[in-house]
Amino acid sequence: MDRGYLLHEGKAKRIYTLEDTEEGEDFSRDHLLVEFKDSISAFDGEKIEEISKKGVLNNKISCSIFSYLEAKNIPTHFIKTISSREMLVKRVDIIPLEVVIRNVVTGSLTRRLGFSEGTYLKEPVVELYYKDDELGDPLINEFHIKNLEIATEKEIEVITKMALQINELLVPYFDQKDLILVDYKVEFGKDGDDNILLADEISPDSCRLWDKETLKILDKDRYRKDMGQIIESYEEVWQRISGGE
Ligand code: ADP
Ligand code: MG
Repeated sequence: MDRGYLLHEGKAKRIYTLEDTEEGEDFSRDHLLVEFKDSISAFDGEKIEEISKKGVLNNKISCSIFSYLEAKNIPTHFIKTISSREMLVKRVDIIPLEVVIRNVVTGSLTRRLGFSEGTYLKEPVVELYYKDDELGDPLINEFHIKNLEIATEKEIEVITKMALQINELLVPYFDQKDLILVDYKVEFGKDGDDNILLADEISPDSCRLWDKETLKILDKDRYRKDMGQIIESYEEVWQRISGGE
């Protein structure tokens, strides 16, 4: 499958169109190639580094999680893995919301609302942030979203419901791998028929994952906090997801 042109280069991924092929004109228009880069960044791109093999691991991890969710009837953009760094996805118009789902208290919940660090929430918390680097991805509510015409009331409802369904599936999925899914960010988009699909990635870049026994951090927080062993931790997550495949 040949790449067309570079549509978007973000902090962690490159998005390509597909080269038109004789047998697949329509196919190429409705689909995109996502390439996972080795760059890792934090604090709105203030801190950036290259970590060899990170893109390969995030591609494997993301593809496995999306396949699992698809098999459980969650509509996602994922079609298939193309290469060690690339996945084929359905093209969507991304809804510029970072949908954060929290199961265990850490980070801003402690700072902003005084919850105590490390406690399990009575029920998951869904938070919506405006995906806008220049504004610093601010927390936003449904009134702001409707006024900014980012999404309709119905769409906000669908997104929130899907986020909770995804969480119901992913908490036990990671638990079986002796990992705690502390919190994570997902993105949704709309396909040509206005269906809302789970898009982007789910990887240790976008999740907080802790070892169930030791509470060892196995995600991008190791980079944010200069804890070292970043690639080793991503590798550990992949080993557990794949069952040592
Ligand atoms: P960013 O720095 O903007 O977060 P990334 O490095 O994460 O960018 O690159 C991925 C970009 O592609 C994101 O902007 C994401 O919203 C977008 N994206 C993810 N999945 C799809 C899709 N299926 N169709 C269109 N855009 C997508
Ligand atoms: Mg991103």
